[in-house]
Amino acid sequence: MERMYVSTRDADERVTASEAILKGLANDGGLFVPTEIPALDIPWDELAKMSYQETAYEVMRRFLTDFTEEELKHCIASAYDDKFDTAEIAPLVDADGAYYLELFHGATIAFKDMALSILPYLLTTAAKKNQVKNEIVILTATSGDTGKAALAGFADVEGTKIIVFYPKNGVSPIQEKQMVTQKGANTFVVGIHGNFDEAQTGVKKMFSDRELAAQMDAAGFQFSSANSINIGRLVPQIVYYVYAYAKLYANGVIAKDEKINVVVPTGNFGNILAAFYAKNMGVPIDRLICASNENKVLYDFFSTGIYDKNRQFMLTSSPSMDILVSSNLERLIYRIAGDDAEKNAKLMRELATDGRYEITAEMREKLDAFYGNYASEEETAQVIRELYEKTGYIIDPHTAVAAGVYTKYREETGDAETKTVIASTASPFKFTRSVMNAIDPKYGSMEDFALVDELSRIGNVEVPQAIEEIRNAKVLHDTVCEVEEMPDVVRSFLKI
Ligand SMILES: *Cc1c(COP(=O)(O)O)cnc(C)c1O
Repeated sequence: MERMYVSTRDADERVTASEAILKGLANDGGLFVPTEIPALDIPWDELAKMSYQETAYEVMRRFLTDFTEEELKHCIASAYDDKFDTAEIAPLVDADGAYYLELFHGATIAFKDMALSILPYLLTTAAKKNQVKNEIVILTATSGDTGKAALAGFADVEGTKIIVFYPKNGVSPIQEKQMVTQKGANTFVVGIHGNFDEAQTGVKKMFSDRELAAQMDAAGFQFSSANSINIGRLVPQIVYYVYAYAKLYANGVIAKDEKINVVVPTGNFGNILAAFYAKNMGVPIDRLICASNENKVLYDFFSTGIYDKNRQFMLTSSPSMDILVSSNLERLIYRIAGDDAEKNAKLMRELATDGRYEITAEMREKLDAFYGNYASEEETAQVIRELYEKTGYIIDPHTAVAAGVYTKYREETGDAETKTVIASTASPFKFTRSVMNAIDPKYGSMEDFALVDELSRIGNVEVPQAIEEIRNAKVLHDTVCEVEEMPDVVRSFLKI
């Protein structure tokens, strides 16, 4: 049976999986969601024996039903190959009573690689399937990690161009260097004078700009999105939750059907939504623990039922979570509204006009699987230091926010027994300065790459290839613009 996708804002906008991937965002600004979440009807004893790639096929074929077996297997094999520096793709590390699911072994050492290494293949396959003649222009706003992962995924992919906007002063030095040194004639990187939310809003505006779309079409281009609003990113992210559960079971850590908790350091709500979908497919997940940094909109939302972005935007040591509008939350809102597009659209209009909305008591009841909390900058640094001192294991600030929130969860609920997976979303090498400063302030005076070598020494881990690559790389992108100029920059890149 063909699985269809509908817009969260308009029940009448119904498309196939490949069409949803191609479009990214629905015409009305809504997000595509599957009309039903498929069941994972395979015994755990079988899943326990599967490789990452095999697990990916079993999960993805249940969502992307208009892809043939051959197409899907080709996409998976091309994505999850030796670009990853471990054959397991997503290994689990047991440290201090929790299981860290390392999602940073791909080309750009952040979890975005898990989805963005496959998205270009899904997208070009979808384009062929739908007889798209235009060249696809990937337009992306990034808080640091998506940009580089998307650039790496799409660089030199035939029939595509990629344009990335990032907040000029809102990403780590290593993140910026990774992006501005990106090779590939089809890649464009632009810093904006503004924060991530402004970049994301600017990009969303371009997506719904009809005049721009017409100009693009006349010149043989059409937009698509690599942001986590694209269902083609969400589906591959479900895979590693299934895989992690299967591995815990295979290794005898959990009994069959024993429930686990999952902690996710959250920004745009994509990663934790994938965990929610995994739970809905039948993975025995008890609590979904949503960890925020000082931009704690989601914590406030889970504690009050009110989503309110009217607050000061904080720059933290976990920049990929410096977000006040978590786009993917809309998919959860739609769901707890009883798949009611009208009800969801009304709340999203309120968000657009007033910057806030409140959900009903009935909707709140459906959030009982979620637990939200946050970690301050000081707490985050303390988590990094203490875990290192206790175990020698070094984690990045995003993962540390999750670990800090997990401690709060245990203290608050008394639940110390449930085995818990913490999504480890970036390599500490991507945020070397914050990590090393947290471990010992004496590192404050060292320069970036000296710190990289020192981190490698004290953590006893090799410097990842992604970092070696940029050590001496040339800056190839130096465009900086104002938020209002974003559409003009796009026109100038495309020469239209
Ligand atoms: C993107 C990102 C996050 C946040 O993930 P969302 O899916 O946006 O919630 C957390 N940590 C790192 C390192 C990231 O790159």
